[in-house]
Amino acid sequence: MTHDVVVLGGGYAGLPAAKRLARQVRHDEVSVTLVTAFPDFVERPRLHQMATGQQVEIVRIADYLERTPVRLVIGSATRIDLAGRTVTVTGSSGSRVVSFDTLVYALGSNVDVASVAGVAENACSLVGTEVAAEVSSGLRAVAERAGRVAVCGGGLTGIEIAAEVAEFFPALDVTLVSRDAPGGWLSDKAQTYLARTFDHLGVAVRTGSRVREVQSGHLTLDDGDRIPFDICLWAGGFRVPTLARDSGLAVNGEDRVLVDKTLESVSHPGIYAIGDAAAVPGPWGCELAMGCRTGGFTGPKVADILAARLAGRAPEPFRYRYIHECISLGRKHGLIQFLNADESPKQRILTGRRAIAYKNMTLNGAKILFRHTGPALARRRHLTTPVPERSVETVRSPAE
Ligand SMILES: Cc1cc2nc3c(=O)[nH]c(=O)nc-3n(C[C@H](O)[C@H](O)[C@H](O)COP(=O)(O)OP(=O)(O)OC[C@H]3O[C@@H](n4cnc5c(N)ncnc54)[C@H](O)[C@@H]3O)c2cc1C
Repeated sequence: MTHDVVVLGGGYAGLPAAKRLARQVRHDEVSVTLVTAFPDFVERPRLHQMATGQQVEIVRIADYLERTPVRLVIGSATRIDLAGRTVTVTGSSGSRVVSFDTLVYALGSNVDVASVAGVAENACSLVGTEVAAEVSSGLRAVAERAGRVAVCGGGLTGIEIAAEVAEFFPALDVTLVSRDAPGGWLSDKAQTYLARTFDHLGVAVRTGSRVREVQSGHLTLDDGDRIPFDICLWAGGFRVPTLARDSGLAVNGEDRVLVDKTLESVSHPGIYAIGDAAAVPGPWGCELAMGCRTGGFTGPKVADILAARLAGRAPEPFRYRYIHECISLGRKHGLIQFLNADESPKQRILTGRRAIAYKNMTLNGAKILFRHTGPALARRRHLTTPVPERSVETVRSPAE
């Protein structure tokens, strides 16, 4: 009998976690299974490129897992039974139950379409490659009649979408709608560059009022103003799935799983959470922001923590230092905001094509990490944690 580790979610956090853990354990003693909803890896930071019709390489998760012992199960986790140590997974061929001794929860986040009325019905949000392709066709059609696009949300996602759409469809009238100044937390220099680039690309910025409702063909703002659109792209923040809360795990107000410095649930030992779905304590007190970096740091780290614990060693706690925020503004302009240790912005920035090259390097670097998750000199230690008795046999599913 093996100790079964199940990783839920094959994104920036879950994929490297599963692969790196598998390199550090003896396969006759520990099994690693990755359960994820879709067969392709969704490179979310490039969805706005897809939405403007650009070709983006799509890699299958099975390709990243080639020549590894990680079992891949394609399907949606719909229920977690923490007491019985099982996950129900629903896929194209029905439901199955997968048992675990240790669970890594990495279900990421989705665009929040629920907190403002009418978003789900009347706006598009870049939640996956299919929607991005639909948005691309829609934008092309609306550009032919020089129509209007409203992008809602002045965070990094909204900023990137507005700039990309304006650059690729110069005939469109693009308005970025945000309660607060877009990128208001950036350094003065960065904000000046952003405003100049929006000006250059023809992006109008409407701030000072919240979107109260998205109706067919127009937004209604809190101050009563209406902003007409042909297409509305919603980027009003992320929400994490409620599965953790529904299962009884301790979560914060945003449904992110509360974890300690070893990324283990504060309420349920043996359950770990990483990436956007986890509320990971940051070095200066507050929780780490959602973003690829959180997944990129916590995914490999949880693998090392688990490998240590399974071998009876004390793990090194999670440490974190982030140095930059990378923002694309179309394909010709970009902005790298360098950060202090507490993530406040430095005055130092990088702009223009050099910044775009820098951002591409970081996104492509993540893909290199998915191929070579390390550790380079992996030592497969014997399992010392006893395998508990289980009432349900693990489903041994072939890679799909
Ligand atoms: C348009 C856009 C642009 C972005 N740009 C940037 C950027 O420039 N920089 C940055 O840092 N971040 C950016 N982000 C955010 C970034 O993509 C996320 O923060 C990051 O992907 C989170 O990683 P994760 O592994 O936690 O979750 P994800 O990458 O979302 O992975 C979660 C995985 O779990 C799977 N899953 C979900 N539910 C289930 C289920 N019930 N059962 C099984 N599998 C499930 C999903 O299919 C997915 O594979 C952007 C996001 C968007 C939408």
